[in-house]
Amino acid sequence: MPAAPMEAVLVWFRNDLRVHEHAALSAALADGRSVRAVYFLCEDQWDRHHVAPLRRWYVLESLRELGERLARFGVPLDIIKAGTFQAVAPLLGDYLSRHSVCKVFVGREYLRNELDRDRACAAVASSCGAEIQGFDHGVLVPPRLLTTGQGKPYTVFSPYRRSWQKWLDSHGPEPLPSAKRKRGARQVNFEGHLLIDAALAGLAIDPALTASWQAGEQAARGRLKAFVSTSLAGYQRQRDFPALSGTSMLSVALSAGTLSVAECWHLARVGLQQSAQREGAECWIGELAWRDFYRQIMANFPRLAVGEPFREETRFIQWSSDESLFQAWCEGRTGYPLVDAAQRQLVQTGWMHNRLRMVSAMFLTKNLFIDWRRGEQFFMRHLIDGDFAANNGGWQWSASTGTDAAPYFRVFSPVRQSQRFDPDGEFIRRYVPELAEMDNKWIHEPWKAPHPVAGYPSPVVDQAGVRDRVTAAFRAAREIMESQ
Ligand SMILES: Cc1cc2nc3c(=O)[nH]c(=O)nc-3n(C[C@H](O)[C@H](O)[C@H](O)COP(=O)(O)OP(=O)(O)OC[C@H]3O[C@@H](n4cnc5c(N)ncnc54)[C@H](O)[C@@H]3O)c2cc1C
Repeated sequence: MPAAPMEAVLVWFRNDLRVHEHAALSAALADGRSVRAVYFLCEDQWDRHHVAPLRRWYVLESLRELGERLARFGVPLDIIKAGTFQAVAPLLGDYLSRHSVCKVFVGREYLRNELDRDRACAAVASSCGAEIQGFDHGVLVPPRLLTTGQGKPYTVFSPYRRSWQKWLDSHGPEPLPSAKRKRGARQVNFEGHLLIDAALAGLAIDPALTASWQAGEQAARGRLKAFVSTSLAGYQRQRDFPALSGTSMLSVALSAGTLSVAECWHLARVGLQQSAQREGAECWIGELAWRDFYRQIMANFPRLAVGEPFREETRFIQWSSDESLFQAWCEGRTGYPLVDAAQRQLVQTGWMHNRLRMVSAMFLTKNLFIDWRRGEQFFMRHLIDGDFAANNGGWQWSASTGTDAAPYFRVFSPVRQSQRFDPDGEFIRRYVPELAEMDNKWIHEPWKAPHPVAGYPSPVVDQAGVRDRVTAAFRAAREIMESQ
């Protein structure tokens, strides 16, 4: 009789492309059986969700690094082209049978399509006799854990943050021991290079765009360490000034999971103990709380994943359909220098500073009165860190349609924001070369300069009266809802 194939366990990698602080991988390596790893490449799913080519490049190159690293641990990483999430369950079933997998270790995901995929996969695994064990290693606090005194999900950030902090103080994750090769496991080859090369070739991406980014876990961890040692102390003071390198720029690493949020939190907590870093660390931990906040919002209100606003009355807002205004915003030709610099930063680098994301999103939705979903999609098409929960949360905050959103009567003045956060126009000059020689006095409002600037547009809309128009539109939307 032929010997029964040896049973294996499987780590299914998704948006957690790392080996450090990876609870599912650690658990699999601690298991006595041989370990395999799999990644399902869903390029059609990326198309459907407008995932930026730069982000795809980041994921693919990070996968390559992960594959090589796992191979050194003796864990073969198989990359399987699935196309869409719907195709994953049968492919997983086939894989489990082919490799005699009896247990799957996986990091949980909380978005609607991901949950549908995982339900289908759980059914398939069960029919193959394999168990699935999930880990919440993509967040600090699992999404459905914290509730208000009324047992409801939090929809306001400040009380969420307090409850989040309290929970972490007593239940926060301990650092995991470094992942290492299992005793007796032999190094294997990573076979995924050709598939990755083919997927990269299909991206037709400008090398200038990728040149300033480094994919993979090693680079992400290096950046974290550099940020903590050089910028964490000044984070609170510097983080709102786009001309400075005051923030971590770790969003792509956190969203693709080349870096663990737990590792960020552990290092920031060390900063809390040092007087020079305390203020910055406290503030930065708050940003990690925003990340968890929007993830729990998505998990608790799945209707947000299909384009619905959180505030129901805002479904009735009559947004402007002025295509030329939308194009001007996309191309950074609105005539408002800070907004234009922000949009050009996004298109030229694949990233935008947080202050500018708020300014630009508010400008599109309040000044131009264009539907936030169009801006949300445009951001996804360009951002290297495009992350559905954070992007949707940020857009709905700016448009005043979301949870704990900016009140609808709050409208950032693009000129005032520019004067406050880019006082010398340093950032503007970097991305709007037409204004490079402009006197500081006019850099925020070039239309007031005694001589018009060649090649730079006049403002596409007037700032006056914006608040009244927005207020009237939100009131009208409420009246429509109440009359139904
Ligand atoms: C309209 C809009 C769209 C956005 N879209 C995205 C997106 O697609 N992906 C994304 O990761 N972030 C998004 N953000 C949040 C934020 O702008 C970025 O996370 C931040 O600019 C990334 O820079 P950093 O890594 O230097 O952040 P840091 O200031 O160093 O913050 C550390 C980490 O905290 C998290 N974080 C910080 N601010 C927020 C926030 N407001 N919401 C959720 N998480 C946060 C990020 O993971 C970030 O890397 C958006 C914000 C707005 C207003």
